[in-house]
Amino acid sequence: MRHFMFTIGVLLLAGASVLGQNANQQSAPKEIKSFDLDALDKSADPCNDFYQFACGNWLRNNPIPEDQASWGRFNELHERNQTILRNIVEKASADNGSRSSNDQKIGDYYFSCMDETGIEAKGTAPLKPMLDQIDALNDKAQLPVLIGRLHNRGVPALFAFSSEPDAKQSRMEIAGTDQGGISLPDRDYYLKTDAKSVEQRNQYEQHVANMFKLLGESPDKAAANAKTVVKLETELAKSSMDRIDRRDPNKVYHKMTTAQLQELSPVFTWKEYFTSLNGPTFDSLDVSVPDFVKGMNQLVATASLDDIKTYLRWHAVHSAAPMLPKAFVDENFAFYGKVLTGAKQLRPRWKRCVQYTDGDLGEALGQAYVAEVFPPESKAATLKMVHELEAALKTDITQLSWMTEDTKKQALDKLSHIDNKIGYPDKWRDYSTLTIVRGDALGNSFRANEFEFRRQINKIGHPVDRSEWEMTPPTVNAYYQPYENNINFPAGILQPPFYDAKVDNSVNFGAIGAVIGHELTHGFDDQGAQFDADGNLRDWWTPKDEAQFKEKEQCFVNEYDSFVAVDDVHVRGKLTLGENTADNGGLRIAHMALLDVLATTPQKPVEGFTDDQRFFIGWGQIWCQNVRPEMSRLLALNNEHSPGKYRVNGVVSNIPEFQKAFGCKADAAMIRKPACRVW
Ligand SMILES: [Zn+2]
Repeated sequence: MRHFMFTIGVLLLAGASVLGQNANQQSAPKEIKSFDLDALDKSADPCNDFYQFACGNWLRNNPIPEDQASWGRFNELHERNQTILRNIVEKASADNGSRSSNDQKIGDYYFSCMDETGIEAKGTAPLKPMLDQIDALNDKAQLPVLIGRLHNRGVPALFAFSSEPDAKQSRMEIAGTDQGGISLPDRDYYLKTDAKSVEQRNQYEQHVANMFKLLGESPDKAAANAKTVVKLETELAKSSMDRIDRRDPNKVYHKMTTAQLQELSPVFTWKEYFTSLNGPTFDSLDVSVPDFVKGMNQLVATASLDDIKTYLRWHAVHSAAPMLPKAFVDENFAFYGKVLTGAKQLRPRWKRCVQYTDGDLGEALGQAYVAEVFPPESKAATLKMVHELEAALKTDITQLSWMTEDTKKQALDKLSHIDNKIGYPDKWRDYSTLTIVRGDALGNSFRANEFEFRRQINKIGHPVDRSEWEMTPPTVNAYYQPYENNINFPAGILQPPFYDAKVDNSVNFGAIGAVIGHELTHGFDDQGAQFDADGNLRDWWTPKDEAQFKEKEQCFVNEYDSFVAVDDVHVRGKLTLGENTADNGGLRIAHMALLDVLATTPQKPVEGFTDDQRFFIGWGQIWCQNVRPEMSRLLALNNEHSPGKYRVNGVVSNIPEFQKAFGCKADAAMIRKPACRVW
């Protein structure tokens, strides 16, 4: 568990399930266009609404599919990748007796997940051993051992526990415990009193009751138990830290001894919890949110044993839902898909099963994916661009007018130490200790969770392995890791429309170039800038530069606070600050890098647009997206990325080169006054 990982995007899929149409229909992966003239709305004035100009026709021609909560360029590529992965797992699932160990695992995992008849026939029997363990709890003193068992199987009850790099000594993995134990997307869902929040909370309670009914409880009992779950989770929410405070790395770092942790929660015997994990021993750890531990203690002290068991039973069935019979899958979708994201239909089963295979066996599946789509030339081309972007950021920092020489020296040192990880890991994960049994869908999922949980806790006390990846190779995303000071680009995003060997530099620099610039800039946004060249949480700024930096960042907070996401919900300027800083800096340095490249390799005008125009359209078009109102609300409240429209208009309106490229007049909407700029 790393607290921070700064990504380029978000791909929230609509809920966790739907039983499938076209279950056995193979299809060829769809080609995706990088620079799409047909996507443009030429009737729109780029100086008035550039997003509409770059994406207008795309938005009109790409309605959101029924099984999606949003539909954008990220989704198009994700779907393409899923089709490729499907072909791989379907081939591997044919048990011909001579499969490699990895093929046996991904093939049988997928086969078991797809075996709806088998899952239906078993009913809830595969979950029974866990429910029996919960039922057998007859004294709160046994709770730590039971929680240890549940965590081991991936059931996130009461709190979170894992390994993490020590923020102030980031080469070492330490133990860490954090807030957790709730099932809505954020603490605020339990605490806010506006009509929409109250409505969603009631719908959640109804959903919990429906799940209990599916476990065989009477309607009255189920309704009472659902109330209990909401009550207990609300208590945990009350002592949880809010999302904006959690962005501050110092606020979620409290290293203490295990004895000090025990003092925070007298009724929960941590020693027994740790012993039950059967992992490395340790005597200190990071307690991210001490107030949460106190709140959790209070809950355990005051709630009845029966109420705690009810709460644990909910978490068990909620975690298992995707691999249980259809009634559970449908009910899970009815709330987490329909209510929370607005999706109309469950995604076909094969898509969900591909997603779970990727989630649980990602580096086994990823090897086959990489072999198919990511030749060495793609890796070399990306690396070349990364170096061009790094050179541009170096020039940018050197030329900054607001930063003093002392801080520049530190910033340049940090930049020079950023490691680049491209495509896939150098060393693939070894899954040999994970048993995948054909026909045991839920068992496979639990064993995979256990494999991952144990892999994480076994790191405690050891050096951080910086070669490890936190995303699987087919993922359409990228990230900067502040504890390791490295940037990571999975093969899944190094494809059209982000990177396309067939198009000109202008388009590629506007798309993947700006994505690379975005990740580099994360090392210097309001969070990343608190970590030094070696990934330690350490202030390397002079007080004067830090004050300037904060003032400049405030300009972004104000700008994005003014944008409306949906209805009366605004973009949250403080929540999205790091991402907005990265978008603005990233696009600016990508443009600088493009100019450097064009100086030595000029291009002819293409399709009637100048180099600069194609660059900005390239950026605009990776963010074309239609989003359902429910999903817009969910994202605005919880996600650190701004909506696509503002990732385009919010950024280009700060950039004079954009205004020049399209000849915008001084009073045009795409000329922001004052323009915000940090990097
Ligand atoms: Zn980002």
